[in-house]
Amino acid sequence: MPSLGIKTGDTVVVISGIDKGKRGRVIKTMPREGKVVVEGVNLRWKHQRFQRSRTLQVQSGRIQVPMPIPRCKVMLICPHCDRPIRIKKTFTVDGRKVRACKKCGELIDE
Ligand SMILES: [Zn+2]
Repeated sequence: MPSLGIKTGDTVVVISGIDKGKRGRVIKTMPREGKVVVEGVNLRWKHQRFQRSRTLQVQSGRIQVPMPIPRCKVMLICPHCDRPIRIKKTFTVDGRKVRACKKCGELIDE
């Protein structure tokens, strides 16, 4: 399975399409499809069934849910320098494969 270089919990910025410039947290990665789901990005209205709340008021309506977008449409935001970056693969002293920022060189993974 090809690696997306992006993990759940990462912050990314959209670089093309109608959501260009939007930032959000990755809530799901789909390596097989080469897609990611980002909080607040590529929102679609979804109709919700009627729901009864505790006070027996009937609630209904539409909610917005983020749909997957192609990995190539987002860039990872470096948590250290706060810029959209390309990822550099590197190894820690104990041999673990981690991601690092190509701009500031800081490690992204702990
Ligand atoms: Zn950086």
